Amino acid sequence: MPAIHQGKVLVSGGSGFIGAHVCSALLVEGFHVRTTVRSSDKGEYLKKKLSEVSGGGGTFEYVIVEDIGAPDAFDDAVKGVDGILHTASPFHFNSDDPNELIQPAVEGTINILKSAHKHNKDVQRIVVTSSVASVMTPKDTPTVFTEKDWNTHSPQQVEEKGKEASRLDFYMASKTLAERAAWDFVEKEKPSFDLVTVEPPLVLGPCIHDIPTKDRMNTSIAKFYELFSGALKDADGDKLIEPLSNIVDVRDVANTHVLALTIPHAGGERFITASDRGMVTNQDFVDALHKRLPDNETVKKNVPIGEPGKGQTINRHRFANDKAKKVLAQTFYSQEQTAVDTFLSLEEYAQKW
Ligand code: NDP
Repeated sequence: MPAIHQGKVLVSGGSGFIGAHVCSALLVEGFHVRTTVRSSDKGEYLKKKLSEVSGGGGTFEYVIVEDIGAPDAFDDAVKGVDGILHTASPFHFNSDDPNELIQPAVEGTINILKSAHKHNKDVQRIVVTSSVASVMTPKDTPTVFTEKDWNTHSPQQVEEKGKEASRLDFYMASKTLAERAAWDFVEKEKPSFDLVTVEPPLVLGPCIHDIPTKDRMNTSIAKFYELFSGALKDADGDKLIEPLSNIVDVRDVANTHVLALTIPHAGGERFITASDRGMVTNQDFVDALHKRLPDNETVKKNVPIGEPGKGQTINRHRFANDKAKKVLAQTFYSQEQTAVDTFLSLEEYAQKW
């Protein structure tokens, strides 16, 4: 049960929404952090930002890995680290070709495991950011998904339909196949490290990564931004209570990664990290904003009112967080707090766009 409590940790994808928070959470815990980014601009932004927000006793450095899917991409980056958190993976619905997501997701994951296995026997544990996309399959009735579940649907859709499968299935297949590949690698190669996977649903919360323009928001945050950009201002009540997703706060997701790295008996396990209530709707978000920020001008102007409280009546699938609570002693932000903090953070970014 190797786990680490100090030393140097490699984080892939520190320039991302989740990756930046993971770096910050490690620094607060006193770890030395090395992250991979695709350009020195992104690295320099992060260095400055993390020195402002993180405190803690750790040090920060970045290295350039332009393409996680390229052979031997991480051979140098893994040298001298004690643990690895692999967050980098494409998350978007913009491609016509499933392989644009599946190739970097799967090869990126295998590359980082392979490089550690080949070049650094001191690595104790690798934590891979997977997703509930690897857990859920479509169901007609309200379902509680747990870590025992696997998405068999999306890989099959992509295999059968190729480019004609849905873009959602492209992404969901990329996460499922990448996570499967990681578990298969560990099973077959028996490396020095053990593996933990983290499975978040839609991640929201305050941003600390660089978002130079609004079209560069990551996918989950862009979804929330619709709410106060005015895009949903005239939405009718039905639109607002369409089931959206389960959510989790990015600060909780970062914490899950640190706990997954440091708790010995987390080794070899998958952990769903999701806030308590389960399914959320836009109505829940607009209720939170009107309740907590009644005098905010943007809320008053752009955020619809809909039918307050009606979101609470929606019951669809839920991702169970019991295992994270029990094994990792994880706590979660309320959905209301996450909605408010996401809003306030985006409002600040929006002043620069
Ligand atoms: P972001 O798009 O903000 O971050 C993705 C990160 O991966 C960025 O650092 C990006 O670099 C990097 N990356 C992507 N493709 C490549 C590549 N080919 N080569 C090198 N680097 C690459 O997304 P999130 O932070 O939201 O997602 C991070 C992880 O969390 C992903 O694995 C995602 O699947 C998973 N996840 C996210 C959820 C969410 O709601 N946000 C929910 C569940 C799981 P760059 O900045 O240069 O583009």
